[in-house]
Amino acid sequence: MNAKKKTAHDKNLVMLPLGGTGEIGMNCYCYGAGSEDDREWLMVDLGVKFGEDAEPGIDVVLPDVSFIAKNRKKLSGLVLTHAHEDHIGGVPWLWPQLKCPVYCTPFAAALLNNKLKEHGLDEDVKVHIIPLGGKFKVGSYELEFVNVTHSIPESCALLIKSKHGTVMHSGDWKIDRTPIFGAGLDEVRLREIGAEGVDALICDSTNVLREGFSPSERDVAATITDIVKNAKGRVAVTTFASHVERVASAVRAARACGREVVLAGRAMRNTVEAARACGYLRDAGEFLDEESFGYLPIDKILLLCTGSQGEPRAAISRIAEDQHPNIALEKGDVVIFSSRTIPGNEKEVSLVHNNLAKLDIDVITADDALVHASGHPRQDELRLMYDWLKPNALVPMHGEARHLRAHAIFARKCGIPQALVPVDGNLMRLCPGNLESIDEVSCGRLHVDGKLVVPAEDGPAKQRRKASMVGIVFLSLALDEKHNLADDVQITCDGLPAGLEAELLDAAEGAFETMPRPRRRDDGTVAETIRIAVRRAADQIWGKKPICKVLVQRV
Ligand SMILES: [Zn+2]
Ligand SMILES: [Zn+2]
Repeated sequence: MNAKKKTAHDKNLVMLPLGGTGEIGMNCYCYGAGSEDDREWLMVDLGVKFGEDAEPGIDVVLPDVSFIAKNRKKLSGLVLTHAHEDHIGGVPWLWPQLKCPVYCTPFAAALLNNKLKEHGLDEDVKVHIIPLGGKFKVGSYELEFVNVTHSIPESCALLIKSKHGTVMHSGDWKIDRTPIFGAGLDEVRLREIGAEGVDALICDSTNVLREGFSPSERDVAATITDIVKNAKGRVAVTTFASHVERVASAVRAARACGREVVLAGRAMRNTVEAARACGYLRDAGEFLDEESFGYLPIDKILLLCTGSQGEPRAAISRIAEDQHPNIALEKGDVVIFSSRTIPGNEKEVSLVHNNLAKLDIDVITADDALVHASGHPRQDELRLMYDWLKPNALVPMHGEARHLRAHAIFARKCGIPQALVPVDGNLMRLCPGNLESIDEVSCGRLHVDGKLVVPAEDGPAKQRRKASMVGIVFLSLALDEKHNLADDVQITCDGLPAGLEAELLDAAEGAFETMPRPRRRDDGTVAETIRIAVRRAADQIWGKKPICKVLVQRV
């Protein structure tokens, strides 16, 4: 590398995704300004992803932020673009590793604070509340929130000005020209920013595979109102509690038809309370609690409840199982799933649908009517954003590998000079100079296991998954000083077919008896010999090798 080129690229603005590129969820993007050995970091979003079937006992997955934690003296702050779980859910789990100030809008602060309280961190974390459209400084970064429309109030794109260039981090967004409430997407400001010059746009890729333009929340509201108008019995609407616009639409539909609104589910009540504290839903009138449900005429109720993702403890799941203490639905009632099923939750959601079907209840989903609209941009919306911002380069984010690749191709086709597909852990130079991957940072994921955060790779979930498929055999041997068995071998099996235990016990005893005496001196050798023999015997009889634990004691 010649000296001149080195100087030109020595100090730059880089981006390092630690989560959110290659999966939808656990968004965590780091920006670094400076030189390779002296960078000032800014983190944007710190979210979670939900655990998968292959990760038994794991509800929540987190990005591994250890690289930034090691450099935390140079981490100036964490900015949250909006309050969805995939953007803020990691804060209470990972903030203790980062210990940096947090910046977000009032509504995100209200929801974050509920989480921090649950973790006993509300006193420790300094949350700076930034007004909508606010400009603020974090370290040497000059930042600005730009209003966008999405599926939760106060969603922001983040303009990042550093000494080495200007980039726009889109956050999650769509273009909704007729939102139910809120300031709407600030097209004027986005055009101004484009005129001032944008080196790179880091952009939402979720719906890049879809052509056209997303429907508006108004269209969804009209559909819900029609359904409620035509309903003869009770109507239940289940949606994300945080989708306050959708909640407002359901409430307006209820009011238009003279129905009372009953709230069910803790998340629904907490979020509605946070929304009201931030000035939303003020004209929504009184909400009734679950206990009122049974006293209302069937055509005077609209129930708003949680559980759109099939969460087993949520209100709609319990109602569908006829297990809810205060609420029951029956033939003639309607349940609207005003939501999209997040990939991975299909089984749980279909269980709820089936349970409702058994009760002879009508279920209306986004497959049947426009009862849901996505909060992410389709191709025509992306084109408009490119046109407003005129970025020199594009980095796709918030998508699986296929979305990111399609987004890079689409952006180039739309005339953006450069596009680069990132992967988590990829350190990319955004500006000045060409968009380029310049380094790799080791990164992975973490599991929330009960109350603990543990590594995902080779963590407890892996062993649990194995045990779930092949079961476990425990054996205990007591040996005397002459290395003979002092007692019978003890065996206990978990998750093995009945009848196998006696045969495995025979195999263990046989293996021990044929062990030459000198080899019996070492406990480890004894345990390993028994383990191999038991697994081999199980394989011969059963065709599977269980996990086998052997305890050797000397008496
Ligand atoms: Zn979002
Ligand atoms: Zn998101």
